[in-house]
Amino acid sequence: MILTQCAFCAADLGLSLGKKCGRCSTRYCGAACQVQHWKEGGHDTLCKKIKKAGGAEQYNANEKYSEAVSIAAKACAEDTKGQTCYICTQALHWKTKEGLVRMCACRGTAGFAHVSCLAEQAKILVAEAEENNLGYKVLTERFARWRTCSLCEQRYHGVVLCALGWACWKTYLGRPESDRARRLAMTLLGIGLSSAGQHADALSVQEAELATLRRLGAREASILVVEANLAVTHERFGRDEQALQMKRDVYSGWLKLKGEEDYNTLIAANNYANALLNLKCFEEAEALLRKTIPVARGVLGAEHLITLMMRLLYARTFREDPAATLDDLREAVTTLVDAERIARRVFGGAHPLAVDLEDSLRQARAVLRAREGDVEPLRAAVEAMAPGDA
Ligand SMILES: [Zn+2]
Ligand SMILES: [Zn+2]
Ligand SMILES: [Zn+2]
Ligand SMILES: [Zn+2]
Repeated sequence: MILTQCAFCAADLGLSLGKKCGRCSTRYCGAACQVQHWKEGGHDTLCKKIKKAGGAEQYNANEKYSEAVSIAAKACAEDTKGQTCYICTQALHWKTKEGLVRMCACRGTAGFAHVSCLAEQAKILVAEAEENNLGYKVLTERFARWRTCSLCEQRYHGVVLCALGWACWKTYLGRPESDRARRLAMTLLGIGLSSAGQHADALSVQEAELATLRRLGAREASILVVEANLAVTHERFGRDEQALQMKRDVYSGWLKLKGEEDYNTLIAANNYANALLNLKCFEEAEALLRKTIPVARGVLGAEHLITLMMRLLYARTFREDPAATLDDLREAVTTLVDAERIARRVFGGAHPLAVDLEDSLRQARAVLRAREGDVEPLRAAVEAMAPGDA
């Protein structure tokens, strides 16, 4: 469940079941809140409707889904003017009357659809894989249709992903907690909310997800993936301390589980270094990157995105650290010149990483120039004071 607060006073219920409405399963911290909610909170008029929808969790998901679809359609209104859905070929959905969204990089008419139509398509593909027992791998591939365009392979994001997250959650939430589709749906909803900037909701969904996995005794790797998502949400929420702590745990978790050469460990190291830098822990960031960059280079190669991202961070530690020496800054510039040249050749000059590296190089050069400028007059003054020793 993701409704983890008392419906009346919003107190956190955590894993305790609290008190439930006998008809609709709406949750409360206790009998007092339940009575108040009935009398003053309008539950007397809603209870029947919630029960009919399939209970509190389902009712909430349905409501949030409708809201999210209309937010997404409104946000895309300018882009979708005069277009039609590539799935149902209509502008207005025949049943829901919802508007279109622009969800990916597809050109021409393929880049427009109704959230309902995208959801229906994903649902059918997943159901087919389940009914025919097509196996774990196929199910995972099919499930990706909830979040990725089948034509251009681009991942959906922002309000569109959020609407699909609710669509997905409302489709699978009635299944047992251990069901794979239900678990994936919860993950998708958390990522969607986070991507749409709804951080408080993302946090509560992802915390509920983590609690569920721990309760089920899920594999350590699954837990680490959820923790990594949660760390990103903390960060977007401006909770840098929590993000740092979580990223450190995720990094040491992967390190212990798979060793330093594993891809997941390297990604976690990069994320951890980034969090350290955000909190100006320069020495720790430097030590971590000094250790992991050679591993990344050896395992993934010098041209890999992760290797280049780590080198960008490494240069940043010196650029931003007020205690960095001139030699450190010169090393930062040399690193960036080399990394930028590689990124430009491999990914093209317009790639975000190439652009970041170029910006960072410009800034590092400026810092170096300024620092050299500080030193030169000083050296001249010292030399002038002791002419005979020169
Ligand atoms: Zn309460
Ligand atoms: Zn009720
Ligand atoms: Zn449609
Ligand atoms: Zn596409």
